[in-house]
Amino acid sequence: MTYDTVVIGGGPAGLSAATLLARARRRVIVVDAEEPRNALADHVHNFLSRDGSTPHELLRAGRQEVLRFGGEVLQGNVTRIDDGFAVRLGDGAVLDSRSVLVATGLRDDLPDIPGVQEQWGSGVLHCPYCHGYEVRDQPIAVVGGSNRPFTIHQASLIRQWSKDVVFFTNGVELTEDERLRLDARSVGIVDTPVARVVVSDGTVTGIELADGTVVPRAVVFVGPTFVPNDSLLTRIGCTRLENGWVATDPTGLTSVEGLWAAGNVSDSPAQLISSAAAGSKAAIAINHYLLEVDVTRAVSTF
Ligand SMILES: Cc1cc2nc3c(=O)[nH]c(=O)nc-3n(C[C@H](O)[C@H](O)[C@H](O)COP(=O)(O)OP(=O)(O)OC[C@H]3O[C@@H](n4cnc5c(N)ncnc54)[C@H](O)[C@@H]3O)c2cc1C
Repeated sequence: MTYDTVVIGGGPAGLSAATLLARARRRVIVVDAEEPRNALADHVHNFLSRDGSTPHELLRAGRQEVLRFGGEVLQGNVTRIDDGFAVRLGDGAVLDSRSVLVATGLRDDLPDIPGVQEQWGSGVLHCPYCHGYEVRDQPIAVVGGSNRPFTIHQASLIRQWSKDVVFFTNGVELTEDERLRLDARSVGIVDTPVARVVVSDGTVTGIELADGTVVPRAVVFVGPTFVPNDSLLTRIGCTRLENGWVATDPTGLTSVEGLWAAGNVSDSPAQLISSAAAGSKAAIAINHYLLEVDVTRAVSTF
């Protein structure tokens, strides 16, 4: 059996695409390793009509919609896509398909500071649009790191949610202008390196500095390095942009015919709802592509 589309990744991008294709009466299957990026978050925010759901609830509802319209959902890990397409799973299964959508998301590489990994998604966050409202008016730390521009911007931005924001430069050398801009925004600046995030009874209580001082804080924002889960795309030959991310057209089409990408795998700032929208947009383009192939074939044998 050949699928019209194999969707790799069952986050909002993949599930939204699969629902649209199933409703368009395409033979579609979602293969999902079930490790979504926001798995550790308590709740989902900024998703129209779903604010306050858990990540699990949102995805369960999405999977049920795919199934309701005749799509399939398979728990599994795709290891390779071969030309044509043959989609190879870790357990040896091979799915043949006329088109493929890769919606495998990205990995957040966190700063190597004790306490950060343990509190990720609750006391340690990265996105004020996702969680800023929930931590409004609290004493907030922003910790600088390898993602320099992101953390400097974060320090200024997060001031919108709280008057009490301290930027721990943690190795980031601020220019005079950057320092002035943070001062003018009433963001405190601490240049002593960070030793750890202090956690008490499962809750962040402060930032401990290398000299042993503890600065009381209730929440910590960090700037992860965003690493796309794009090895399936690059291995089959998709062109990359100068910044290293896979190039796509506005519908998510890659440089390989019949192969699309949607969501965080090709767009790091995409939120849950914009990833879902990207999946939907890609699905319409995929459907038009399949239609064109079918019409061309029908005409040639008419
Ligand atoms: C802590 C945290 C909290 C967040 N909170 C919010 C929020 O409240 N609101 C918001 O809008 N955004 C939030 N985000 C951002 C949100 O997680 C992303 O925008 C969203 O997950 C992107 O969707 P996606 O479908 O592209 O990828 P994902 O949701 O990450 O889904 C990708 C799926 O692909 C699977 N996969 C990967 N590789 C393979 C493979 N080889 N084979 C099979 N399956 C594979 C993964 O297991 C995963 O299930 C948060 C992010 C973090 C880190």
